[in-house]
Amino acid sequence: MTALQNITVLGSTGSIGVSTLDVIARHPQRYRVFALAAHSSAHVLLEQCRQFQPRYAVLSDASAGPELLDALAAACPDTELLLGDWALEEVAAHTDVDTVMAAIVGAAGMPSALAAARAGKRLLLANKEALVTAGSLFIKAARDGGATLLPVDSEHNAIFQCLPSNSHGQVDTAGVDKLLLTASGGPFRGRSAQELRQVTPEQACAHPNWDMGRKISVDSATLMNKGLELAEACWLFGMSEQRVDVVVHPQSIIHSMVQYRDGSVLAQLGQPDMRTPIACCLAWPERIDAGVGNLDLVTVGQLDFEAPDYEAFRCLRIARECIQAGGSAMATCNAANEIAVAAFLDGRLGFLDIPSLIEETLARVENIEPESLEQVEDSDTRARQVAVERLHAASHSVGVG
Ligand code: NAD
Ligand code: MG
Repeated sequence: MTALQNITVLGSTGSIGVSTLDVIARHPQRYRVFALAAHSSAHVLLEQCRQFQPRYAVLSDASAGPELLDALAAACPDTELLLGDWALEEVAAHTDVDTVMAAIVGAAGMPSALAAARAGKRLLLANKEALVTAGSLFIKAARDGGATLLPVDSEHNAIFQCLPSNSHGQVDTAGVDKLLLTASGGPFRGRSAQELRQVTPEQACAHPNWDMGRKISVDSATLMNKGLELAEACWLFGMSEQRVDVVVHPQSIIHSMVQYRDGSVLAQLGQPDMRTPIACCLAWPERIDAGVGNLDLVTVGQLDFEAPDYEAFRCLRIARECIQAGGSAMATCNAANEIAVAAFLDGRLGFLDIPSLIEETLARVENIEPESLEQVEDSDTRARQVAVERLHAASHSVGVG
């Protein structure tokens, strides 16, 4: 019988957070929710607290707290409400926590994921931006802190499952030739750049296979998500960018593959449902029910593969170039992308202007080799300032605001 694990869920009200709680609720004998953390979705957080009765509830946006206070005190007298960004790191590194699900969206999720790594937690990493923005610091912190880093992102989880369990991220000694990262191609697969000019946020967020938050949905539509995942794979598995291929696989049944030196290719298959990689990480090396139905290959019928279109989907090419450049280039790319995606979702920027804004920002921000969290944060702030300036310049030149 496994000991009860105390879990903190960072980003509990989001798509990954909700799926995590769905899996946890199926196994009350294995998992106890220690803390739930969100940005400002006070009502969803309250409902989650009612169900899971955590020791702590966190809202990083302190201004959203007052509306929660009375209702929480009435529904969950043993839950303490913490307000502000600092509290995310507090509940990630708390001595009573065994496992942390890092599922905040964007670079905002990096400091708390880093705190969990430093504190040596079993760290279920959904927030890919932590590795993209602070990869070398993050990997070092996890090693020095004795953390167990388990990748939740479906592609990286698939690769993790296809590597020998004793390889500890050392792919060279495991005889690996390449990693094959699969990509669905998103809702606009097959379209030319010209056809992408007028697409709307609603079309971009209507992913054919996965139900996800809006930011990552837009990233999937531009293929920036695959660019971020390339960087994530390089850090997690110690691979150079040249040894990670992207293969478009529209059905999203194969979640990624490992190609070995002897010609063998191992793949992990499953329904496109994030509860599978979440359950895999929660229970690893054991297996638990995730609430996901069996894969019926006869119904799927066909698995297709094609090369990515680096011309129409410039974000993937930009990300590859940033990974090759090293230093803070990929972090700058990520910061500019976050500004560009938010503006696109607000109707202030066109779909094809997303890669343009990223390129303009990269051309204006110095590439440094950050050695501390402060340097990472300063460089991220600078990149955001430049991206916002460029955004304003672009909106003035086309007369939108
Ligand atoms: P989402 O937008 O659905 O949820 C984001 C969560 O983060 C919410 O709980 C929100 O309250 C919280 N949050 C947002 N800004 C915050 C801030 N400044 N401080 C603290 N909390 C904040 O996002 P999602 O789709 O669940 O994605 C979460 C992460 O997981 C992302 O990094 C994404 O790339 C990664 N991921 C998601 C999926 C998926 O299927 N959704 C798959 C693979 C990886
Ligand atoms: Mg993914």
